[in-house]
Amino acid sequence: MLLMEEKILTEGQVLPGGILKVGSFLNQQIDTAFLRAIGQEIARLYGESGVTKVLTIEASGIAIAAAAAMELGVPMLFAKKHKTSNVDGTVYSTIVHSFTHGTDYTVVVSRDYLRADDTVLLVDDFLANGAALRGLVELCRQAGAAVAGAAIAIEKAFQGGGDALRAAGVRVESLAVIERMDGDRITFRR
Ligand code: 5GP
Repeated sequence: MLLMEEKILTEGQVLPGGILKVGSFLNQQIDTAFLRAIGQEIARLYGESGVTKVLTIEASGIAIAAAAAMELGVPMLFAKKHKTSNVDGTVYSTIVHSFTHGTDYTVVVSRDYLRADDTVLLVDDFLANGAALRGLVELCRQAGAAVAGAAIAIEKAFQGGGDALRAAGVRVESLAVIERMDGDRITFRR
């Protein structure tokens, strides 16, 4: 998605540690016209995949997932983050390692909302090492739900998570794929 690459180049800020800050249009302030375009692009990619639900992790994936779900005409569901495991039999849960915070957290989703007859599209803002996405795949596995694939706003390919998931057979579509970030210089995979 050329527009995503242009936004990253004009408004993104490269921070130390391989972090890209996109607070001006995606992560804190949201460019709503751009968000609608993201939803439409994801729906174009997955419109024929029989998706019944869009799943993300709170908080930064929610806006994009909602935009995609609205275009696909299906519910959006977000896994909640808990500091400790509080499994009481009513939720599916798994542990995710946070790349940006360097800590582990538990993600849970109610058994009422993720079901064996669902075909799930996984959505997130960033794909780095792939821990968040693997966590969502695991929640679907526990529910017996099918995974149609993943739609990611920005993939940082140099961290390898996306290609590892593709090699494992998961369809991963990223609207912009960053091959390298050297200082302020950003190179995209085309
Ligand atoms: P992963 O689990 O693939 O290593 O990292 C993905 C998660 O970490 C995303 O949900 C996202 O919130 C966060 N993340 C990873 N890299 C970046 C980044 O460069 N910038 C921002 N803003 N978030 C990131």
